[in-house]
Amino acid sequence: MSEGAQDAHFFGSDSSDSSVGGISQRVQPPGQTRSRLEELTTANRRKDEFLAMLGHELRSPLGTIDNAIRLLRCQAAETPAWQRTHALLQRQVRRMTHLVDDLLDLSGITSGHLRLQLERIDLCVIVRNAIESLESNIRESNHQLTVLLPDEPVWVQGDANRLEQVFVNLLANASRYTNAGGELTVYGHTQGDLAVVRVRDSGIGIEPHVLPHIFDLFWRADEAASRSKAGLGVGLTVVRNLVELHGGSITAASAGTGKGSEFTVFLSREL
Ligand code: ADP
Repeated sequence: MSEGAQDAHFFGSDSSDSSVGGISQRVQPPGQTRSRLEELTTANRRKDEFLAMLGHELRSPLGTIDNAIRLLRCQAAETPAWQRTHALLQRQVRRMTHLVDDLLDLSGITSGHLRLQLERIDLCVIVRNAIESLESNIRESNHQLTVLLPDEPVWVQGDANRLEQVFVNLLANASRYTNAGGELTVYGHTQGDLAVVRVRDSGIGIEPHVLPHIFDLFWRADEAASRSKAGLGVGLTVVRNLVELHGGSITAASAGTGKGSEFTVFLSREL
């Protein structure tokens, strides 16, 4: 068959069935392929817009519920049942707020609206702040936390809030996927012109076949131990995007199920 005939076969004006090696294939003409691509692009954009809108719509009533729960704390006569219910409401609202924030960040990243407020910051301060905001979680879960950070400042160009969010997410996961009494370690050090922070846990671990997908959007492990605690599978995607927006990188490692995990963030150091 001449080249021209071949082109006519593959790029004819009608969509047609072609048979290759006995396998029937549907061949789309270029016009249809393009309009299908446009449809998919539009549908994808609408989905992103919908997620952003959903996030915004949910954020405000959640804020109101959160405030109402705080107010209740100052008033009612507290019986043990009341305290349990109050704690449960507080935990669930915190969880929902976290999910909604992840969705909003994701839509900010995918739409390109998320802008970093870069400044010269000490990464050790950022990591300490992240640890501080999770201290009550860690205490409640009875985890042993070891923090090893250099005594001198480790300067990076970064957005303080966004980098704190990265370490809050990693540490929250480390705590979430580690049973009570387990060990969490945050180890910061320098390596040439890199600032390195490792968040390690002795928790449920990650199967080798899962590691390559761990940062994928909406990805969650199937294992029952993980599934019962998992959220939307958005957090690590947001974390990776935030680290990459800073020009850095992140890796995940684990020796397998039950053997703990380690997430390592690499950022360029400012001297
Ligand atoms: P999720 O909200 O589901 O935790 P993430 O994107 O933060 O979403 O994490 C994706 C999946 O990666 C989790 O559902 C869990 O299966 C796995 N994972 C994340 N961190 C850890 C960890 N420290 N140990 C074991 N598994 C983890």
